Amino acid sequence: MKLFPLFADLHQRRVLVVGGGAVAARKAQALLEAGAQVRVGAPELNPELAVLAREGTITHVLGRFQEEWLADVWLVVAATDDAKVNAEVAAMAGARRILTNVVDDPALSSFQVPSIVDRSPLIVAISSSGVAPVLARRLRERIESLFDHALGPLAELAARYRPRIRERRPDLGARRRFYDWLMDGPVAALLRQSRAREAEHALDAALEQAQETPAGSVVLVGAGPGDPGLLTLKALRALNEADVILYDRLISADILSLARRDAERIDVGKRIGEDHAATQARIHALMVDHARRGRRVVRLKGGDAFIFGRGGEELQHLRAQGIAYEVVPGVTAALACAAHAGIPLTHREHAQSLHLITAHCRDDGDTIDWAALADSRQTLAFYMGVGQLDSLARRLQAHGRAPDTPFALVENGSRPEQRVVTGRLADMPTLARAHAVQAPALLIVGSVAALANELNWFGQHIDGMAQPA
Ligand code: SAH
Repeated sequence: MKLFPLFADLHQRRVLVVGGGAVAARKAQALLEAGAQVRVGAPELNPELAVLAREGTITHVLGRFQEEWLADVWLVVAATDDAKVNAEVAAMAGARRILTNVVDDPALSSFQVPSIVDRSPLIVAISSSGVAPVLARRLRERIESLFDHALGPLAELAARYRPRIRERRPDLGARRRFYDWLMDGPVAALLRQSRAREAEHALDAALEQAQETPAGSVVLVGAGPGDPGLLTLKALRALNEADVILYDRLISADILSLARRDAERIDVGKRIGEDHAATQARIHALMVDHARRGRRVVRLKGGDAFIFGRGGEELQHLRAQGIAYEVVPGVTAALACAAHAGIPLTHREHAQSLHLITAHCRDDGDTIDWAALADSRQTLAFYMGVGQLDSLARRLQAHGRAPDTPFALVENGSRPEQRVVTGRLADMPTLARAHAVQAPALLIVGSVAALANELNWFGQHIDGMAQPA
């Protein structure tokens, strides 16, 4: 280990910052936040430091660096733009055994300032020992995204309740489980929604119960169209906290690999010989069963759970069973496919509205209002349409859509193997067959679809107008 990590208590302790520019100001601010008494030495101060000096928040010593400035000082930060002065500060402070940081100069520094993720009282500090600050910064961004802002209040709550938790849960094992519940359960969820009072009530109520009853919960998570980059931060967190993940067939391996390593992963896709009702009943039973056993269940669905995803039915079931739930929205296929195909779904010159339509009609007949879809100034996005392209093309034209209405079929949208086939509505079934378009694919109909020929930027693009079917 090249550096020894430590967290310094600078409260009411004097720290010297040498330099009066923007860098010095940034350092002074950070030190003030930690409660230090900041002395800034410089021939002149930038406006920000000048204000702090005027209001007495910092002490200003005027002039070029002098050894006396080091009197009563615990730490020194050298932040001038003069390498000679910085070296002089480092040498004199070093002789007095005062730890010194020379900004951006690890060789001259006897301590370095890490990148931090601040969820006070929790602080994560990252250092690359000065060799790769960029790497440390990137790591910091990753960690920043992993912990939401409820973590600080949660840690404070835990600290405040520590004596009571110890009293109510004298057994060490029970206490550990209680803390797990506190960190991951409804209290944390309430804090994330800034409902601090209710969070505290929930904690009180749980402590009142003599028995531990770890209440499980379900998070209904939209995983987006397949590219892991399109997961939301909330989805990522839910995957990190899950005990059990119930996932659909469309969920990519890349996304599942981001989940907590020891989470149980259960493929709940439709089984051979099973009808949809049976699949759905099995999923409902699994969710309830795992949640009742106190586990954090993530119900992971492609795209968004509330768009042709039966998310509503699943929540109704959870509600009826008295199981707590949360919903994390996902990027639905229409948005992802359009973005990756270069198709603006609305456009001032082409379309003022967007319809999301399932092409998969219920067994009891055609429930789509085709006449309403005839107006040419609206964009239609059909989900689950690959198997019915003939009838879709026929019906749209029969109800008034022009045969030369542009369409785009986006296969495997947002994934590396994405293909987009564009053309005229009348040619759609032939073109799709010629290029063997397969599910999952999204069909976009309307004049915006032709913009893909101009704006495409991702994956493979096949212009069916350029090459007649
Ligand atoms: N809840 C999902 C939709 C589920 S229905 C969502 O919000 O996206 C399944 C249909 O979604 C597929 O038949 C296909 O039409 C579409 N779909 C899902 N992912 C897709 C992808 N990566 N590329 C193209 N279409 C996709």
